[in-house]
Amino acid sequence: MLNIGPHLTITNGFESAAKEALSIGANTFQYFTRNPRGGKAKALDAEDLQKYAALSEANGFAPIMAHAAYTMNLCSQDESVRAFARTIMRDDFERLVQIPNSLYVFHPGSHTGQGVDVGIAYIVDALNETLTEEIPPVICLEGMSGKGSEVGSTFEELRAIIDGVTYSDKMGVCLDTCHLYSAGYDVVNDLDGVLEAFDHIVGLKRLRAIHLNDSKMDFDSKKDRHEKIGEGTLGIEAITRIINHPKLKHLPFYLETPNEVPGYGAEIATLRALYKPD
Ligand code: FE
Ligand code: FE
Ligand code: ZN
Repeated sequence: MLNIGPHLTITNGFESAAKEALSIGANTFQYFTRNPRGGKAKALDAEDLQKYAALSEANGFAPIMAHAAYTMNLCSQDESVRAFARTIMRDDFERLVQIPNSLYVFHPGSHTGQGVDVGIAYIVDALNETLTEEIPPVICLEGMSGKGSEVGSTFEELRAIIDGVTYSDKMGVCLDTCHLYSAGYDVVNDLDGVLEAFDHIVGLKRLRAIHLNDSKMDFDSKKDRHEKIGEGTLGIEAITRIINHPKLKHLPFYLETPNEVPGYGAEIATLRALYKPD
């Protein structure tokens, strides 16, 4: 079965978000841990989480994905931005412990001119300061498109971050199909080659999730503009190969396409029809 879900905004708790996901044929979802600007996260409600867990189990949910705030920049040149990022990541991790069947994903950060190596060192320091034994795996780095001074748009950079982390067994990767293509990994014409390179450099065992997006931008553009499934530069045939690839088809897929909930439902129906079960 294809494990797929939309990006949802949690307004009435996790149970209600899970019901919304189910109503459009999804069996997982992604959500922001706090508003994208990085404000205070809503308090978790133990009763709501219990109801969510029961619903999730009864419906065979794949792990739900907590996405960190975009403003969380662990490797900014600005010390106060880095400190704020570590504070909200620590708070995200404390909440994650309470949410069953979870993955966490964050953008490694932007080095804001200091260079990739300095950026990677700050990201590693932040993870080593905030990750503890109690934090459940998996903490995923997101592969980026390479816009501006983004860190993590090459497999080598992702590997370098993971290698620096003490609890590296908790670290995974979430690849975003739009970002891969913009970063210069040709998932349209050479999906096998891209996955071989990832396996060689990072290791496929680290690959825990896929952000399934089409792209408004050209190959190797280093730009990050998501498009609806089948309407962008990746196209429906490449996306069909991605969801059915033997090395990917069992992973959870999260849609981050420019859609409201009904639009996500239509994409999920299309993708389920294109999926070939084992
Ligand atoms: Fe992201
Ligand atoms: Fe993404
Ligand atoms: Zn993106």
